[in-house]
Amino acid sequence: MRSLRLCVRIDIKKMRNLPGTYALILISSSDQLIEIGKLGRVSVQPGFYVYAGSAFGPGGIKARIAHHKRIAARPHWHIDYLRAYLHLVEIWYTYDCGHHEHLWASVLGCSKGATTPIPGFGASDCRCKSHLYLISFKPSARRFRDKLRAKLNGHGRIFTHKLK
Ligand SMILES: [Zn+2]
Repeated sequence: MRSLRLCVRIDIKKMRNLPGTYALILISSSDQLIEIGKLGRVSVQPGFYVYAGSAFGPGGIKARIAHHKRIAARPHWHIDYLRAYLHLVEIWYTYDCGHHEHLWASVLGCSKGATTPIPGFGASDCRCKSHLYLISFKPSARRFRDKLRAKLNGHGRIFTHKLK
């Protein structure tokens, strides 16, 4: 569908400082033990880690993605701790103004073979089991969009941003 054209490489300079929802696709290439704030020490395995978040504060999606592209000097969110040890390969995002991060998390959790390696991750303020899933193969933005639209018809356009 034209309005939901995906896999368009978006340069961060072209991102807008509008609120929205996003997912980070990260790779872990080895077994690691990582300290994640109050969650304590957790085990990270090789595979694709997918995290759902939202950016409804100042600077919106653009500022938040710029934040995740760097390693946080002072980790604040759970993802900041994990991010320092994983390789960020892709970001999916939308400027849809609905608060869809929990829906995004639930759809990611329904991906084939997805597991919840760190219960409560990124979900301190909600009822989700987790906002982070481990998937053994690279998740498909197109499949994600189709599942999302099956749950919420009229969801705004989703963009992808691939990193080197
Ligand atoms: Zn949630």
